[in-house]
Amino acid sequence: MGITQIDMEYFIMNIDKKLFTLKYSPDIQSHLKPNKKDCKNCKTKACTFICPAQVYEWSEEKQELIVRYENCLECGACRIACEHKSLDWKYPKGTKGVTFKQG
Ligand code: SF4
Repeated sequence: MGITQIDMEYFIMNIDKKLFTLKYSPDIQSHLKPNKKDCKNCKTKACTFICPAQVYEWSEEKQELIVRYENCLECGACRIACEHKSLDWKYPKGTKGVTFKQG
């Protein structure tokens, strides 16, 4: 028995609800710095679908990766998924970034 469309919609709905409970204190500079040349040549653009917070979007018009680093959950999935290993990934500075509620 596989995952159905209804299962997927329920899963996405639950992620959206959980993301709504988080607090963010974004830095003024991005802690996620993809290599623009590699992104342009990347066939899969895995970051655009692996990220649970939908931080990455490929712009066909601009031919560049849009990075909404302010929404990053610091999970590291994009760093692992990048087939070119060309994502300069760091945690945000000091008290910046996402805060998760406990319990
Ligand atoms: Fe998205 Fe996780 Fe990468 Fe942040 S670290 S951009 S949440 S995949």
